[in-house]
Amino acid sequence: MIDLRSDTVTQPSESMLDAMRRAETGDDVYGEDPTVNELENQAADLTGKSAALFVSSGTQSNLLALLSHCQRGDEYIAGQDAHTYCYEAGGAAVLGGIQPQPVAFNPRGELDLESIAAAIKPDDYHFAKTRLVCLENTQAGRVLSMDYLEKFSKFADANSLNTHLDGARAFNAVVKLGVDIKDIASHFDSMSICLSKGLAAPVGSILVGDSALIACARRYRKMVGGGMRQAGILAAAGIYALNHHVDRLAQDHHHASVLADALRQSPDFRLKSEPETNMVHLDIPAARFKALQAYLMERDVRVSSQRWVTHRDISLSDIEHVIECCEAFH
Ligand SMILES: *Cc1c(COP(=O)(O)O)cnc(C)c1O
Repeated sequence: MIDLRSDTVTQPSESMLDAMRRAETGDDVYGEDPTVNELENQAADLTGKSAALFVSSGTQSNLLALLSHCQRGDEYIAGQDAHTYCYEAGGAAVLGGIQPQPVAFNPRGELDLESIAAAIKPDDYHFAKTRLVCLENTQAGRVLSMDYLEKFSKFADANSLNTHLDGARAFNAVVKLGVDIKDIASHFDSMSICLSKGLAAPVGSILVGDSALIACARRYRKMVGGGMRQAGILAAAGIYALNHHVDRLAQDHHHASVLADALRQSPDFRLKSEPETNMVHLDIPAARFKALQAYLMERDVRVSSQRWVTHRDISLSDIEHVIECCEAFH
């Protein structure tokens, strides 16, 4: 099956499984798992932050960041379609009493600084306290420019706002721009990175930030039931992913662009936008998409929406098969 639903569907490779099998473990709730400690040190070094925390998922990582930045009655600003706002079951509001203030993303996946400024509440007891602003990079496959990040962090500073990056796919941005992950991380107080998306580990995310924030997040992780014991077997997969699966994201980007180039040739397909990283967004009528989805499924291609995502388990010949199917579909 060629599964284009998401880059979360990858299977661990034999060499990743070997690394997991060999991992030294201990009880991480006691801070005694050497492999978890190694992953956390590596992630902190890599991003230029003082501390890191290995967590079960990107959702948990974002939740812990929000809980650590904000108190009850505080507010965070995030994109209208942001994962933190839309796709995390309202965790920050439910568990933290933190009010979301959504703001529309612009066509580049940015939050316009004027829109953020307009959403910041005055210091007045009628209002929640605007404490934090969150970005996403990549945002629906779009890469935030370094120029924008520069302006964004200056703006946040000038307005005394904390900043968090949902960098579930931050390494896709790193590879696309040819920058260092530190260059992106330096514009944020905290950043979450998924190991289980394009980096192709089976489980896990990393939250990075300063030591005080990470200590706070560690307490909240325990509170929400995320303290794991011999988690080194999972951390070993994460270390393997950071060491072996970053540069290869360029292949996923190439595959997305090959697919987009072919679909653009066909009068029956329309793209919503040009792929910048590993996502191709179609823009075809819903009924036609439904028929296409069924047609593809019969030919071992699985899609769940008009967003098609390339990843480590999709080869160039898989992409060629998808293209042939699309060309044959009428
Ligand atoms: C997948 C994703 C997350 C959450 O990751 P999970 O590990 O699935 O909880 C957060 N933000 C973005 C942008 C994502 O794509």
